[in-house]
Amino acid sequence: MKENPPIVTCPSCGKEHRWDTSNRFRPFCSERCKMIDLGKWANEEYRVAQPADQDEQEYTEPPHQA
Ligand SMILES: [Zn+2]
Repeated sequence: MKENPPIVTCPSCGKEHRWDTSNRFRPFCSERCKMIDLGKWANEEYRVAQPADQDEQEYTEPPHQA
């Protein structure tokens, strides 16, 4: 009973396709979808916003000589 491959959803286009171990683009359905996803990463579409690490706690005021 090995002829029942799971159905997976392509992360790129959302199309359902059979999980084929011969498909080297899995979990994507095709090379195109894989490239599309890689392109998203390249365009920093998934970039995690990181706040600028500006620690002002150790800021020292200039001495007042008044
Ligand atoms: Zn796809």
